[in-house]
Amino acid sequence: MEMSRLFAPTLREAPAEAEIVSHRLLLRAGFIRKSTAGVYTYLPLGWRVIRKIEGIVREEMNAAGGQEIMLPIVQPAELWRATGRWELYGPEMFRLRDRHEREFCLGPTHEEIITELVKGDVRSYKQLPLLLYQIQNKYRDERRPRFGLMRGREFIMMDLYSFDRSPEGARESYAKMYAAYEAVFRRCGLAYRAVEADAGAIGGSGGTHEFMALAESGEAEVVFCPNCAYAANTEKAECVPPPAPAPATPAADLPPRARVVTPGARTIEKVSALLGVPPTGLLKTLIYKGDEEYWAIVVRGDRRVNEVKVNNTLGPFLELRLAAAEEIEALLGCGPGFSGPVGLPPAVRLAVDSEAAVPAAFVCGANEVDVHWRDAIPGRDFTPARTADLRRVETGEPCPGCGAPLQSARGIEVGQVFNLGQKYSAALSATFLNEKGSALPFYMGCYGIGVSRTLAAAAEQCSDENGLVWPTAIAPYHCVVIPANSKDEAVTTAAARLCAELGAAGLETVLDDRPERAGVKFKDADLIGFPFRLVVGAHSLAQGQAELKRRRTGAEELIPLTTAAAYLSRIVREG
Ligand code: ATP
Ligand code: MG
Repeated sequence: MEMSRLFAPTLREAPAEAEIVSHRLLLRAGFIRKSTAGVYTYLPLGWRVIRKIEGIVREEMNAAGGQEIMLPIVQPAELWRATGRWELYGPEMFRLRDRHEREFCLGPTHEEIITELVKGDVRSYKQLPLLLYQIQNKYRDERRPRFGLMRGREFIMMDLYSFDRSPEGARESYAKMYAAYEAVFRRCGLAYRAVEADAGAIGGSGGTHEFMALAESGEAEVVFCPNCAYAANTEKAECVPPPAPAPATPAADLPPRARVVTPGARTIEKVSALLGVPPTGLLKTLIYKGDEEYWAIVVRGDRRVNEVKVNNTLGPFLELRLAAAEEIEALLGCGPGFSGPVGLPPAVRLAVDSEAAVPAAFVCGANEVDVHWRDAIPGRDFTPARTADLRRVETGEPCPGCGAPLQSARGIEVGQVFNLGQKYSAALSATFLNEKGSALPFYMGCYGIGVSRTLAAAAEQCSDENGLVWPTAIAPYHCVVIPANSKDEAVTTAAARLCAELGAAGLETVLDDRPERAGVKFKDADLIGFPFRLVVGAHSLAQGQAELKRRRTGAEELIPLTTAAAYLSRIVREG
């Protein structure tokens, strides 16, 4: 391919809305263009990376026994009603009506439709296990599409579904997929970690893991134990309950609750400084709205509410969100900074995190502007409707497995595997006949890889100040050949010949034939991120050599033109 023909419109500056490095570079280097919020076009370079990732995914899924199919994107509402997910999926689902007013959605995921398919055509245990997958566009009307391909509303996913005859079989399929996912992300060149996860809207009973590409800009927070194998998304990670404190003072002798005036002290930091009480002695009260109901969620002042735990414990809700300042004003008569658990109106139910429900004296908001309570005691001054683990675990807290202090990292969820049990097959009466001739719902698993998100995650991990640095296995092209002087015919001819030889050896190569200065070409080569750059100049040509530069390490060497193709193809093959 000649650079002069390649449709890779590069930009000097990335649009201001691109907040993270992968989004900026993919736009600047001409890999993608935005169509509308969360919807993108893949330009030739971007599409080539997608095809490479898909290729790796296909090889690994096939090797694990998967068979590729293609399911419909347009799916009838009835199927989703049968599993209860038409309502449960909420505003994230793209819904549409046909000319007869029948309801449909654009598939956000495909458990319903595949279960229906297998129900119709698989009858006997002898046909199991069955592993079916597809690579296709998915549609989710995300609340906040952002970071380019990271969180799109239309995105590419590989989804595989396993059907087994027993729980053991389902566990085997799960283990096989887990291993296949490790192979996919390793081959794509990602630094990743598999973590225990929350099952979210997919649900199911048998456990789930997420594969996290490690990156500071990642939306997910994970904790892991340096001592044992424990690793989990902080959405999921349990908090080890605090040992029950021995009451220092008999309850009857505890001081009564006292009102203190705290002008303008709307944050934990300000209240703490004003009253000289550490954040561990404060209660933080956040007001949430879950569908129709309001909940006051209380955690200790130094902790953060875990919304996934709130949703799983008090919901599930179609939508859970923080109440707006005006709503809190109307309910409590004060702004969010002064809300507290004492004397809440009946319209607001109270749930307290286990750690904050201990019989100790706390400072908390008094539901009155500029006022807090001192010595408010859980159980004496307020009684929660629910007490549960509702907070996020923090770095340094004890590992639930072995007690060692946990470490943390940020990550991008590039894949997730679920052991579903019989959730979907039971709801859709999808059964097979076992050895004894009795009908049993299939034991299912589902497994998703964000193909387009994997591209973005690789770009996020693999870049430097000059541009993208693609891992060779998923690079859009392996090499770029640059004639150092585009006016020197001997040089341009030798460069074209080299490009042809590399191509014949199976190396995907771009010849930068543009009448530009060498410096401009070098800059673009770095921006696009070709793993190997070969420069043919008058001087090296006279020696029968070209200059090879590796994008990742910056290492340069002179190599003979005659053996360049063999040399590079060996490097590429060996990864
Ligand atoms: P998230 O928590 O990031 O919204 P999810 O847990 O809802 O993702 P899954 O249902 O597990 O996503 O989908 C499987 C994979 O599809 C995810 O691991 C992720 O890589 C990818 N994916 C999910 N949502 C998006 C999106 N909006 N844009 C791009 N990729 C996505
Ligand atoms: Mg997920």
